Amino acid sequence: MAADRTVKRKRKGSGSTGQGGELLLRQRTDPRSERRFEPKASLSLGLTLLGMSVAALLAGAAVYGQWFRAEEAGPHPVAPYLFVGAVLLGGAAGLFGQWSLKPIRVGDAGVGLENGPTEIERIGWHEVTGLLLSDDTLTVQGSGTAIAIPLRTHLPAASRVLAEVRRRIPARATDIKEGALPPPDDAAGEQRPLEPPQVAGLRCKATDKLIAFEADARLCGRCGELYHKDGVPPRCTTCSAPLS
Ligand SMILES: [Zn+2]
Repeated sequence: MAADRTVKRKRKGSGSTGQGGELLLRQRTDPRSERRFEPKASLSLGLTLLGMSVAALLAGAAVYGQWFRAEEAGPHPVAPYLFVGAVLLGGAAGLFGQWSLKPIRVGDAGVGLENGPTEIERIGWHEVTGLLLSDDTLTVQGSGTAIAIPLRTHLPAASRVLAEVRRRIPARATDIKEGALPPPDDAAGEQRPLEPPQVAGLRCKATDKLIAFEADARLCGRCGELYHKDGVPPRCTTCSAPLS
């Protein structure tokens, strides 16, 4: 009896928490959202830009010293060294500098990497095959694809991804220690609504039945797995969320 009282009541509009035995089956057009994380400018980015700038200055000085001095003065003896310096510094900044500074999305549609203003590479939670944490990167692996999240510039996004994986597909995060990343900050990232997914032409995960009409599609509210409305299993085949 005491246990019953502690079970969370299903709250109106509380979203897909899946607590207290609530069914997690979703229609395609049910509202979904995600957070968008801008990369944090870091010291190494500053050094990269500084290195590039100094290299450009050196190159400019070298060109001037070599070819544009007054004719009677001839090429400046230091000019070739400036060239070499510019090439080395520019090369080092380009090779070792930090350039992966794309915004990251984390939410109901999985993890997304913004390759351009309209081009977002996504891995849905149901497509995640593994999660790897190294000293400086959290890598989300899908089949034949991966999104690497640099901790230095994207720590809030990485924390959010790890927390979402633990909640939605916990089997994928068993290799990562508790407390390996700080807990997610609810104030980090800008909340945005998601468009309904494009599902016509895809197949039901449980029955392989073709989803010819988008109205026939059902989604797992926890991992985003896709089902035909006639083939919804009692529990999601991917994350075991209760569906029917
Ligand atoms: Zn699921």
